[in-house]
Amino acid sequence: MLSRFSQELQRLDEMGQRRSLHHILHDGAYVIKDGARMLNLSGNDYLGLAAEEKKPYEGELYGSASSRLLTGNYEIYDRLENAMAKTFGREAALVFNSGYHMNTGILPALADDHTLVIADKLVHASMIDGIRLSRCKFERFRHNDLNHLKKILQKSAGDYESVIVMAESIYSMDGDIADLRGLVALKKQFPQVMLYIDEAHGIGVRGQNGLGLAEETGTIQDIDFLLGTFGKALGSMGGYIICDAVIKEYLVNKCRSLIFSTALPPLTMSFNMHIFTTLPTLGEKRRMLDEYATLLRKSIEDLGYPMPSESHIVPLLIGDNHKTIQVAEQLQKLGYYVLPIRPPTVPAGTSRLRFSLTSATPVASLIKDLQEILVHYAI
Ligand SMILES: *Cc1c(COP(=O)(O)O)cnc(C)c1O
Repeated sequence: MLSRFSQELQRLDEMGQRRSLHHILHDGAYVIKDGARMLNLSGNDYLGLAAEEKKPYEGELYGSASSRLLTGNYEIYDRLENAMAKTFGREAALVFNSGYHMNTGILPALADDHTLVIADKLVHASMIDGIRLSRCKFERFRHNDLNHLKKILQKSAGDYESVIVMAESIYSMDGDIADLRGLVALKKQFPQVMLYIDEAHGIGVRGQNGLGLAEETGTIQDIDFLLGTFGKALGSMGGYIICDAVIKEYLVNKCRSLIFSTALPPLTMSFNMHIFTTLPTLGEKRRMLDEYATLLRKSIEDLGYPMPSESHIVPLLIGDNHKTIQVAEQLQKLGYYVLPIRPPTVPAGTSRLRFSLTSATPVASLIKDLQEILVHYAI
């Protein structure tokens, strides 16, 4: 009975694609793996908030013991959602248990068979799963190619009652960013088009107050469904949507991942409230992160590698699988926890290392060590 599963695992193993859970200890900005202490360059704690020591939350509950639709809607939920709506300057906010719950729940609630969804080719797996769970028609546009998107819209938008265009603001594999202003301008040419933008890697790190790339580009008011997670730069847990009041009301009635799952613990919500209200004060961390990322991107470019990134997620596009693994091993030996990323996670021939920087990364020594290693493995 079980051989089918072990055979598949073996097949993955042979292709070098078998995943496993690593045993990792955490020590602030560092991880300890197999006894080796390494700087963590593979997490999403971009502002170092998750690693920061916290004051205990006295008297807060560790469980909500019910969905928000039953008795799980503690006051802190309303307080956080009101604060978020007010800060973003929009009518409503709705918090989900995670970004994954959010993306797999919202689209099936919003889209029906009169809806066309057009998604960027590289959107996150949770968005793809949301599309799979809904009854919508579905097309994809080439990554960040608004001309291609426009062609699809011109051809097909008229055939549908509504069209939802899905994209991220910062993409996790190349660190490149979407043209949010361009997307908004395009949306305005088609009355039935709504924008669905996931800021999972943008919230906290971009914008004057840390509200994301939508804040930086002045597009908060024009994005119908503006989403993000508390799990990355915000160092906690939970997903959120910023939207019109009627959409929130509709989701409360129709969104299955919200209705049929136990609400996040009040403890987590209190922490989320704390982090969210702290965001505007973290400008110095954002400035440092930006400065470090700019330095690393430039030094990798100077070494002759392509650099698609415009953010704190910085790829080193090596191309060859084996070379990528070798460089990752060398960096790990020097105390940098960087992982090789290979197909099928990324397209064939684009194996890479991915530096996920934080506002505490000692970037000068990283650049120096990287330069020395790359001279050895020159392509
Ligand atoms: C990480 C991520 C998610 C999932 O969010 P979680 O809160 O970790 O479940 C959703 N969308 C994008 C684009 C992400 O990068």
